[in-house]
Amino acid sequence: MECFYCKGKMVKGFAPFSIDRNGYHISWESVPAWVCSQCGEPLFEEDKVAHIQNALKQIDHETTFLTSKTA
Ligand SMILES: [Zn+2]
Repeated sequence: MECFYCKGKMVKGFAPFSIDRNGYHISWESVPAWVCSQCGEPLFEEDKVAHIQNALKQIDHETTFLTSKTA
């Protein structure tokens, strides 16, 4: 597998993943990923991305109770 950006070699490793959502920010310190040995760009695997999306769905749901303007 080669890097999407620089065509460098991708190696198995870990990378941080962070995202800004509506009303909160979240970051995971060390997610399994393919990491470019040349430029360091991470590529997250589909199943990890699915877990992240599931986690965000749950947090979105709970966040609706925490950010309600009509409390
Ligand atoms: Zn690269």
